[in-house]
Amino acid sequence: MEKLIITVAPTGSVPTKKENPNLPVTPEEVIEDAVRCFGSGASVIHLHARDSEQRPVHDQAFFRQTMEGIREKTNLILQVSTGGRANPSWESRSAALELRPEMASLTTGSVNFPDRSYVNEPAFIEYLARKMQDCGIKPEMEIFDLSMVSNAVDLVRKGLAEEPLHFNFVLGLPGALPFNPANLVYLVQNLPPGATWTVSGIGRAQLPAAILAIIMGGHVRVGLEDNIYYQKGLLATNVALVDRVVRLARELGREIASPDEARRILHLK
Ligand code: ZN
Repeated sequence: MEKLIITVAPTGSVPTKKENPNLPVTPEEVIEDAVRCFGSGASVIHLHARDSEQRPVHDQAFFRQTMEGIREKTNLILQVSTGGRANPSWESRSAALELRPEMASLTTGSVNFPDRSYVNEPAFIEYLARKMQDCGIKPEMEIFDLSMVSNAVDLVRKGLAEEPLHFNFVLGLPGALPFNPANLVYLVQNLPPGATWTVSGIGRAQLPAAILAIIMGGHVRVGLEDNIYYQKGLLATNVALVDRVVRLARELGREIASPDEARRILHLK
C-alpha cells in the first residue's frame, strides 16, 4: 500500500469558536495550527477564509497571508476551498485560484446541506475546472454522491481534467450520502483506474471512516471543519485529530506520507 496522506481541514465555513474555542479563524491562528499539524504528520491543508466576525468569505488577502505564512514555516501542500457558503458568485468562489495553490476543491454536482442547497451547476463546474487547468492546480473532486464521480470522469472526456484523478468522499453530512462501510466500498469500486481517494467522515463518522480508509488503501482527511469533537462530549483540536490518525495508521501497519511523498502519490506537478 502507498503511504497514508493525511489532510487537515482546520476551519471550514460552518463551525465557530463558540462551539469549539480551538477553532482557528484568523490567518495567524490557521498558520499556527498548520505548523502543529505538519509537525504531527499532515501533508495537505485544506483552507477556508473567515472575516473578523468568523463569517465565511472568499477574501483573497486572507488566503494570501495564510498561504504565505504556511509556506514559510512548513512544506505542506496547500489546497484552497472553492465552496459556496460565502458569496456564491463564480468570480468570488474562484478568486483564491489566482494565488496558485497546488490543489483546490472541486465539487462536481449539487447537493442539499441541512440548511440550504449547495448548487454547482454544470457550467460552473467546467468554469472552475478550466481555471484550475490554466493555473496548474490539481483539483480534489469533492464527492457527496455517486453521480459526482461520473461527473468528474466526464471532465476528463471534455479535456478539462487530467488523469489520474483525486477524489475526496464527504460522508455523513445530513442531506448527502450517509457514512457506512458499504457506501464507501461502493464509491471506491466506481472510481476510474489509477485514481487516488481520501475520505472526510462528518461528525461521528470521522473516526470509523478514517480507520476504513487506512485499511482500504485510501487516504484520510480530519479536522474541525468536519468534526469538532474528539469523542462524545470532548472537544477536539486539529492536531489531536491528526495525532490520532497517525497512531492508528502505525498500529495498522501503514506509514505516513511526507508532503513530498504525497506530491508524488497525487501526481502534483
Ligand atoms: Zn472545505
